Amino acid sequence: MPTSHQPDSSVFGEAMHFFDAAAQRLNLTSSMYRILTHPSRQVIISIPFARDNGEFEVYTGYRVQYSSARGPGKGGIRYHPNVTLDEVTALAFWMTWKCAVVDLPFGGAKGGVTCDPNVLSLSELERLTRRYAADLIEIIGPDKDVPAPDVNTNPQTMAWIMDTVSMHLRAHTPAVVTGKPLNVGGSRGRVEATGRGVMIAIEAALEKMNKSLKGMRVVVQGFGNVGSISAKLLSDAGAKIVGISDVTGGYHNPKGIDIAAALEHANKSAHRTLDGFAADRVSNAQLLELDCDILVPAALENQLTEKNARKIKASLIAEGANGPTTPEADALLSEGGITVIPDILANAGGVTVSYFEWVQNRMGYYWREKEVNDRLRDLLRENFDVVWDTGKEYGTTLRGAAYVVAIKRVVDAYMTRGIYA
Ligand code: GLU
Repeated sequence: MPTSHQPDSSVFGEAMHFFDAAAQRLNLTSSMYRILTHPSRQVIISIPFARDNGEFEVYTGYRVQYSSARGPGKGGIRYHPNVTLDEVTALAFWMTWKCAVVDLPFGGAKGGVTCDPNVLSLSELERLTRRYAADLIEIIGPDKDVPAPDVNTNPQTMAWIMDTVSMHLRAHTPAVVTGKPLNVGGSRGRVEATGRGVMIAIEAALEKMNKSLKGMRVVVQGFGNVGSISAKLLSDAGAKIVGISDVTGGYHNPKGIDIAAALEHANKSAHRTLDGFAADRVSNAQLLELDCDILVPAALENQLTEKNARKIKASLIAEGANGPTTPEADALLSEGGITVIPDILANAGGVTVSYFEWVQNRMGYYWREKEVNDRLRDLLRENFDVVWDTGKEYGTTLRGAAYVVAIKRVVDAYMTRGIYA
């Protein structure tokens, strides 16, 4: 079996470790291995846009379409100072397996712009977004590649993309992006979907272990869309949230944090942070090691590493973020008997409701929230069981099993289609 051509130090190279392990389990042929370890298309664009003071800046944007074997590309767009081609490629790679593990008819893609959105005004963000969308107009579309929100992008960003594409094509094209606001073709339940999926995955795992969520002590790292909504839904379902965090640091209360109050606090602050929220202060590093039953890393990549993995007290980890655990940490967690629900399964709720949004846009018929949530639960539970059983069959962790299930499905699609020469 050839090994990946990527250096280990890259995010994509690291991500490849999990793929390699599953490829070995599946006895993947070297031809198929070669195909699946290369992104189909990587696009880099320079985005000139006018700042409010009249000066022009040029930012770098990316869109990587990793695979289209199972359907159009699918995946969010991230605005962050650390965005690189390597990171976007890893994120597109994860989207490929995420869509496959929950059996959505999509491939995998991801986009990003290297920028600090906190220093940009709303109108600057709008111009940046519209130019990004216009520059990618030939390669995105309902049957080509369907972007969505990710770190620091939101329904408003998606509305600008939908409008830009619709204006260029002279045709209403809502299905070109998902995660839109409700009044321009968004789906009910999409904003909460990733957090809801995290909760559904945790409940499914606890059920298998004959445990219940009631009274479980939970720590959630990150208070963006995924972290804050996971915390809210878990606490509504009877769990006790003992730690939360965001860019301003960690907040700890062993008696339980009032998540509704934390949300209200964040919503009132200028940059939507927890700064000044009343609780014991801990560092982000301490937060991960707090005494708790369940840990939900819902911030960025590489948070659980060989340095802190042995100090994690939780017995269950649900990865709300993409790639929060390094391969070394993953091995240590499994040695320590900690169950990890991997990112590609734990946070698949968002892209699942994105799929429902795309379906509704194409039908022109919109579902009630209950219908969206019920379908989300059914789909996630069904595929959670497939992963769980695969774990037993192959004697592997849930991550190992999730990759086996996902890779099998992508390989099947390739074999049926054949390689176009
Ligand atoms: N950005 C989200 C993710 O990483 C959602 C992607 C989507 O809805 O296409 O899964």
